[in-house]
Amino acid sequence: MKLKGKVLVTGGAGFVGRETVKQLQLNGYEVTVLDKADKPEDFQNVKYIRGDLQNAAKCVVACAGQDYVIHLAAKPRIPESFINPDDYFDDNVTGTKNILTAASAVGVRKFVYCSSSSIYGNNPAPHKPYHKPDPLNYYAMTKLFGEHLCKQYKNMFNLEYNILRFFTVYGPEQPGCDDKGLMIAKFGRLASEGKPLTVHGDGEMRRDYIHVTDVAKAIIASIESRVKSEIFNVGTGNNISVNAIVDILRDFVPDLTVENENATKEYAKETLADASKAKKLLGWSATVDQPTGIREYYGSIFNK
Ligand code: NAD
Repeated sequence: MKLKGKVLVTGGAGFVGRETVKQLQLNGYEVTVLDKADKPEDFQNVKYIRGDLQNAAKCVVACAGQDYVIHLAAKPRIPESFINPDDYFDDNVTGTKNILTAASAVGVRKFVYCSSSSIYGNNPAPHKPYHKPDPLNYYAMTKLFGEHLCKQYKNMFNLEYNILRFFTVYGPEQPGCDDKGLMIAKFGRLASEGKPLTVHGDGEMRRDYIHVTDVAKAIIASIESRVKSEIFNVGTGNNISVNAIVDILRDFVPDLTVENENATKEYAKETLADASKAKKLLGWSATVDQPTGIREYYGSIFNK
């Protein structure tokens, strides 16, 4: 296969990163990963640089010779961001500044910043890329700071970028092994252990869940497109409530129990992507239907 280009994926050992690396390789890219975690055992033909984005020199080494940078590395998860705000600032803001500096110094063709729907906060759904950001938590603030940094590096150093705002990502290998894990996976784990699920508020909180394979396709579409300096939503354009997810899970575990806790202020009541801009300018739209994808995910856990 003809080599399409060299790509650095920061955070390539993470949940979205592993799928992105896989798809980049299948599409003919040469992949380098910069991540502070150990190299995943199944990585083959990946140049792996184990290091922290807070090490500016390591960022330069990783960016040297690359055509594109896909910046996924970040400290995710909302609740912990209030407990350890400094860690979030270090990884998500200082880390982003360092990799942007390195990418502009070596002159990469495009920088893809992986942002989050959490920056929309309580904006009315559907969320559109031009909505005024309303971050409700520290994590969202740091992700928004990273967006502003991208715009600054374009203005100051002419670094081309695209910003992708992922909605809630799910799929195989989603982290859920601890209580900080993402909800769909955490629910699956708790149900398989016969433990009750914790639902905040009335369970009518709605999320636009997007399958990780579609997210990786959006990333590749954004590096292959001529479009630059734009913000895109990466979501399905549909959403589903927590109660509806519990109902799907009950088909696999009929005696499932639920415990309700108070609703939390740092989460938006609803997320819903208007992804029409990504369809028009990147030729990308989600392919995995939400309830079907979630049902298949639980089916794979419960072997049904
Ligand atoms: P993840 O935690 O599974 O992966 C993040 C990876 O980044 C990890 O491998 C971690 O070791 C690495 N990393 C973190 N800080 C680093 C640093 N300072 N230096 C080097 N490596 C570092 O997270 P994910 O779910 O794959 O998320 C990837 C990106 O997508 C993040 O930027 C996140 O904000 C964004 N995002 C994710 C979701 C989601 O639902 N998963 C939704 C919206 C946005």
